[in-house]
Amino acid sequence: TGRLKAKTAIITGAASGIGRAAAILFAREGANLVLADMQAPALAETLAMVKDNGAQGVTRITNVADEQEVKALIALALESYGQIDIVCNNAGITGQYVGPEEWEGEDWLRVYSVNVLGAVYTIKHAAPHMKERRSGAIVNTASVAGIRSGAGGNAYSASKAALINFTMTAACDLGGYNVRVNAVCPGLIETGMTKPVFDYARSKGKEEKLGSRCELRRYGRPEEVAAAILFLAGDEASYITGQALPVDGGNTAS
Ligand code: NAD
Repeated sequence: TGRLKAKTAIITGAASGIGRAAAILFAREGANLVLADMQAPALAETLAMVKDNGAQGVTRITNVADEQEVKALIALALESYGQIDIVCNNAGITGQYVGPEEWEGEDWLRVYSVNVLGAVYTIKHAAPHMKERRSGAIVNTASVAGIRSGAGGNAYSASKAALINFTMTAACDLGGYNVRVNAVCPGLIETGMTKPVFDYARSKGKEEKLGSRCELRRYGRPEEVAAAILFLAGDEASYITGQALPVDGGNTAS
């Protein structure tokens, strides 16, 4: 505990799944939290959990695909705590699971606007502050789908590959200012996003199949991804930047 003492962390997509687990873990490590999501009641619940874990926090309903809303989120963090040490770009959505004949530009743009531009906007508006302080850590939640093919979920996979590449370019842009930018690449994790997959598998009595795509032979928990986000966000990763760390039970190893 205490690894993030006196640090302020913004987490997007904090109302559910991996973002909520990261908020709780960061709270235990002493951070001040600035939590963003579009789901108001669930975001308030995350804030209550943060406070139960002894930390301070504020929330803002934010669509990360809207630059003005992201700008207001960054302003809220600075007003509330006077500094931003960590930004976790974790909000994400999936697109349609359809074949080539049914691809729709609108759907691709919707997925890109959240999964890629969401991170572009927070970094754009947090970077001046971080550069001035010559300190900062950004962690983007990408996916194994951005490393290997994600058949069916083409827009999602391509957006996560774009996010991994953007992680590297942002790391190059900001490295000279001691601002680090990394990504985690989760495998299959049980969260709100994957609930339909889990519900379907369970309804067919095939839950064990969900783990079969990785070497550890099980799916992951949000807390296991949050632990990797904490590592990359904290000072223990002080010489790591521009990297995309799979947290996938070995999925990408095989
Ligand atoms: P989740 O659906 O439980 O949480 C995602 C959160 O993001 C939700 O609370 C949602 O309201 C929020 N969100 C969506 N669009 C938003 C927007 N425009 N602005 C602000 N908030 C928005 O899913 P999760 O699995 O915890 O997802 C977190 C991240 O992890 C995502 O980027 C996802 O792509 C990534 N990921 C998840 C898995 C998995 O298996 N669950 C695997 C790889 C990557």
